[in-house]
This record gives sequence, C-alpha cells and structure tokens, in this order.
Amino acid sequence: MKNSLTIPRTLLPALLGMLLLTGCDDGSNEQPLADTPESALQQAREAALYDEVDSLNYLNDQAAKRAQQTETEALEEWNSPQAFAARSALRTGEYDFTPPPTPPVSRPGQLLNLPPVSSPRFTVRDRQWPVAGEVSIAMWSQDKLSAFSISIDDNHVQDHPFWFEMGERYGWKWTWFVIANQVGWGAHDHWGHWQLVQDKGHDVQTHTYSHLCDALFYTYREYRQSQVVIDQNVEGARVVAMGYPFGLNTNKAGSPCAPLTSARTQNDRTQAARYFLAARDVYGALTSPARIDFLNVPSVSSARNFLNADAPWAYFDSTLDPASNNWRSWYSAHFHGLYAQTDKDYVVQILDHLKNREADVWVGSFTAVARYAQEFATARITNLQQGSNSTRFEVRDDMNDGWFDEPLTLKLRLPEGSTTASATQQGVAIPARVVTHAGNVYALVDAKPDQGVVAINY
Ligand SMILES: [Zn+2]
Repeated sequence: MKNSLTIPRTLLPALLGMLLLTGCDDGSNEQPLADTPESALQQAREAALYDEVDSLNYLNDQAAKRAQQTETEALEEWNSPQAFAARSALRTGEYDFTPPPTPPVSRPGQLLNLPPVSSPRFTVRDRQWPVAGEVSIAMWSQDKLSAFSISIDDNHVQDHPFWFEMGERYGWKWTWFVIANQVGWGAHDHWGHWQLVQDKGHDVQTHTYSHLCDALFYTYREYRQSQVVIDQNVEGARVVAMGYPFGLNTNKAGSPCAPLTSARTQNDRTQAARYFLAARDVYGALTSPARIDFLNVPSVSSARNFLNADAPWAYFDSTLDPASNNWRSWYSAHFHGLYAQTDKDYVVQILDHLKNREADVWVGSFTAVARYAQEFATARITNLQQGSNSTRFEVRDDMNDGWFDEPLTLKLRLPEGSTTASATQQGVAIPARVVTHAGNVYALVDAKPDQGVVAINY
C-alpha cells in the first residue's frame, strides 16, 4: 500500500515513526514482527529509502526556491563571492574535445569486477605473521583489521564545507556520488564545486545522469553518460564506481520520480558491471568480507545503529569482533544532506569513534576500499627470490590493470638482526616501514599489483 503513495516530505518523520513503532505488515493479519531481527532489518531498509526520498525532496525544494528568485536576487547570487570563487575554480581556455576512450572489457585476468559468490572467496583470518622467507598480503591497507568508507549522495553542495573540514580534521577522504545532470552553471551547484572536491583529494563518482528520473534515458546512458560527463568536467576524476539511485531494486516510492516505472528507468546490474568496478546499494546489512557483492555493496544509510550493539547488521564494532560474522568486514556508510546540527554532531561522533580505533580500522574512500578488496581476493605472490640483504618478488591479481592500482600492503619477516627496511617497485621507491611482533621484525610495504618487481632491502 505505501509503495503506491507519494508521501509529502513533511509527513516522512511521522510515517517513519509509525513504521518503527508498529512494524510494517501492510495490514495483513500476521503478528507484528517488531521484535525479530528480520523486522528490525526491514525497518532499517525503510529508513534508508526515506533518507533517499527526503534528500531528493530537499533538493527539489531548493530548486523551487531558486526559481522564485527575482532577477535581481539571481544576479546577486551570481555575483556573490562564493559564486565567483566557484567559477574561478574552473580552468579556462580548454576548448578541445577528446572523445572518451571506450571502456575496457572484462576478461579473465583483467576483470572489471568480481562476480557474486555463494561460498566465501577466502578464509577470513587474523593478521598474518609470515615465517622467514614468505610474503603475506594484508587483508586491508596498512594491515588494518577492518575497513570503513563514507559516501555522500545527491549533490548536497551546501554540506561541502562541513565534509572538507571533517576530512582535514581526521585525515580521511570521502566519496561523492554525483547526479551529473544536476550540475549546472548556477552558483548553487557548479562543476567548480566538484573540481574542488577532487582537488582536495576526495573522490568524485557517479550517482547516474538523472537519478533515473528522466523517462527518455535508457539505463546504460544513465550509467555511461554520467561517467563520461563527470570525467570530462572534473579534471583528474576517474569515474569507476556508482551509487545506485534508489538502490539496486529502484524503489522510488514517495520520491518525485515515483511515476517513472518503465524498464528503462530501472537499475540494471548487468549494465553496471560493464562500466563500474563497484556499485553501492542504499541499504543493506554488513556481510562477511569474503562474500561482498561488489555490484551491490551493502551500505548503512546515515550510519544508523553504528554504535548500537543490538543491531548487528549495522554495529561498527562487530567488524573488530572475531566472534562476529562481520569480523574484518568493510563497513560502508552513506549520507545525503545533513540538514540539522544534530546530523553533523552524529557524524563527528562516528568519526571520533573510528579515530579511537584507527590502529585497527582503515578509513578509505569507497572506491579505494572496493579496489583493495577485489585485488586482495585474487592476489598472490610470485617469483619470490630471497637474497642475503634483499627479497624480490611480484604481486599479481586478476583485476584490470588500468582500473585497479590501489597499493596492497605486503608483509615480510626480516632476517635476524635486521631492524630497518626500504623498498622499490620497478626501481621506484615505495612506502616501507617495520613493525615488531613476538620478537620478530617485519617489513610492511605498499605495492601495486601487476606493476613490476618489488624489492625489499634490509
Ligand atoms: Zn540518491
């Protein structure tokens, strides 16, 4: 019943409250399921969908307000220092058009993404401490126990200063999933805003061309055209990941695009697999790190229940608990607009929680984590040769070499007496450090798969 309703934004909090209180059995005669984990998870999914609807309605409201500006007000906005700064960020004098290269094709040994699995891809183990003469591949960057990423959907440019400040305060990077056709030449949402995101070292990816809200656009154009348009307008961007608008199942209930139901306005994972190394859902429970579906990465909307031990599908510390199925997993959280100060305070609370656990948690962009996870799942060490003061080897994976260049953290036990190490790949210095464990010294180096011989010198 609720699936066919268009719900005014102002009613959403009340409706959501009702759902949380009563469960959502749609008037059937079944017993309310409010106390079962399934029902609680279902409620979390509903909440995630309302986040998306709320976000789109907010952006619509803002656009409507702008449309009511007088010409003088519009001119004032255009001439404001903020708008000028945004326009100045654009590079001038570059008029030549280079047609985008055809995207690569997935093939064995050069996969664009991993297919879903019914059994685990690998055994989840604790940190490895290899014996002398062996190199181990860390499950997450810097040998952390679990991974965490934040992505932000739907062009909420008004929150950029907050997210930039958070990125600088904590030293982490975020991923923005951008709706390409919403970026225009007005002061409110401009390619200069997204160039700034990129230039600050954050990650710009796609949330499709029109958010599946254009009746004339086929899904492949939603995906491919947005990828090309963002790549062409944001210098340095490399769009290889997508946030599915409305989630993979394209649940548009309550949104301004709800009337668009034709097949061409639905998500399509087969199409997604042609253009992206990973695609993110709008809701979902944490899963084992060995079973992540990279074309439907589960994500916790608004990081709801991040600190709630009674909600194992979204409780962050479960990724650090060896007794949990979520042990060592990737926690993907996503946000839309942060409309109130309390929303921002909650983000700070989460980031503080992660900072306190930074020795065990890798906080990376969505795309960096998606790259690392797929490299790791297919990686191996080959051609290992041990000398008296260096060890040489290659690290190989099955993923596309152009798309997958996130360095893997590799660990080598140093011979007795060695306490320092340096490393190169193809003769170029790469990061190296040493750690001590149970009286032995290990080198940790970061090398890219399939990019040449690694030498660790000690
Ligand atoms: Zn969205």
